Amino acid sequence: MSLKTETITYYNFINGEWKSSNSNEKIESKNPADNTEIVGIVQKSTEKDLDEAVMAAKSAQKAWRNKGFIARGQYLYKIAEVLEENIEDIAITMTKEMGKTLAEAKGETMRAISVFKYYASEGMNKIGDVIPHTESDGLMYTTRVPLGVVGIITPWNFPIAIAAWKIAPAIVSGNTVVFKPAQETSITAVKLVKCIAEAGIPKGVVNLVTGTGSTIGQGIIDHADIQAISFTGSNDVGKRVAIGAASRGAKFQTEMGGKNPVIVADDADLDLAVEQTINGGLKSTGQKCTCTSRVIIMEDVFDQFKEKLLSKVREITVGSGLESDTWMGPCSSEKQLQTVVNYIKQGINEGATLLYGGKRLEQGKLKEGYYVEPTVFENVTTSMVIAQEEIFGPVLALIKVRSIEEALEIANDVKYGLSAAIFTRDIGRMMTFIKEIDAGLVRINAETAGVELQAPFGGMKESSSHSREQGKAAIEFFTATKTVFVKA
Ligand code: NAP
Ligand code: MG
Repeated sequence: MSLKTETITYYNFINGEWKSSNSNEKIESKNPADNTEIVGIVQKSTEKDLDEAVMAAKSAQKAWRNKGFIARGQYLYKIAEVLEENIEDIAITMTKEMGKTLAEAKGETMRAISVFKYYASEGMNKIGDVIPHTESDGLMYTTRVPLGVVGIITPWNFPIAIAAWKIAPAIVSGNTVVFKPAQETSITAVKLVKCIAEAGIPKGVVNLVTGTGSTIGQGIIDHADIQAISFTGSNDVGKRVAIGAASRGAKFQTEMGGKNPVIVADDADLDLAVEQTINGGLKSTGQKCTCTSRVIIMEDVFDQFKEKLLSKVREITVGSGLESDTWMGPCSSEKQLQTVVNYIKQGINEGATLLYGGKRLEQGKLKEGYYVEPTVFENVTTSMVIAQEEIFGPVLALIKVRSIEEALEIANDVKYGLSAAIFTRDIGRMMTFIKEIDAGLVRINAETAGVELQAPFGGMKESSSHSREQGKAAIEFFTATKTVFVKA
């Protein structure tokens, strides 16, 4: 498969039309597997472009709201159909833009399709309750109404799934959308919106504005005509979203980072624990918010687990995500690679022992990409930076403990609380873990990553604004409850 393509320019989608930015400035989307390849060019939009998109979304609001849930759901089925016809192209684009393997990119696109189908049918579910009233001849009930125009800001690591799990519930609930994707993966976002357009969505219901976080992202935070913001990304930007939205009374949800632990108990199935730790920690080059980062192992099985883990890590093949024998692709950008390499250096400086990896890979073709070795540290203590901060790269920190109690204490000793796993056969330990662990996603004998679109998703502590995405929780976010009393 050829890596080179001709450079195509992609446009904003505003009020049903593909439009150039007012700025006439462009952003290049580069391939992290081969920095000589420009995947395409997107618009570097201005506040004026954003304003046009918000106005379009505002104008489309009433007609879209009045269609009702079931009719809106039909559009989502159609979007899923069009996406199905474009899986291959979207997946290749995603792999070229941010590096994940083609198999992962296809899986993610299929996930997005399921998300649209799920929310299409969610439009037929009940949206309220009848509640007894003190006046027995009156009728009191709740109903849900859309919020208005919603701003959607997404990261680059799941370019289509996260966009889908925000846009689908937003529009089926009757909102109209202004969508700002991460710069790194704007072309994948354009391709998603092309499918939405092809499915016949009325003009103004979904608008796409590409550009920088500082202009378009911040513009969404500040725009008086945007009633709600759904954000996924880093904690620093998430805080800006939360503060900005709260200060002008807009509804918001922020899903942010993680520092996800796995506990390996002395009664664990070690082969399973090794396999799942590697999948959770190193797949997608460690660039999932639910990635395993800290591996907390009871001392009696530490050496055995470590040897099994290292023998599997040595087998990992690193290369372009488009090649079928690649297990792990590059970091998504040069900046991301630098961040990972710096954390590895910091780990060494702080006294952790590097067991495997640790270096940028530059042999042959790899030189043109942002590749790093899968990396494993031991002798990591909980106060070290590599045990506290989100690395967002393929780095595992092994921590030895004497007891389950100590393991739990360490597992909870971070500011994050997104996902956590334990490997044990002991029901008592499982129950204690479920009760004690500070995590929104609790996994027993399974990797920390891995979500189901029909279940609520989100973190505790600083990982999230404490609302949830996906499943029915998303409908709750994208609607407001009205309590109605009727007396004949
Ligand atoms: P990021 O830098 O925070 O960017 C996320 C989005 O915010 C991008 O679209 C970005 O635009 C935009 N942005 C940047 N500055 C902004 C500003 N001042 N105002 C408004 N928007 C702004 O995060 P990232 O590097 O793309 O993604 C990695 C992070 O996402 C990690 O921390 C990861 O844990 C987190 N994540 C969390 C979840 C979850 O569900 N909990 C899932 C996936 C990822 P630009 O691209 O233009 O900078
Ligand atoms: Mg960024």
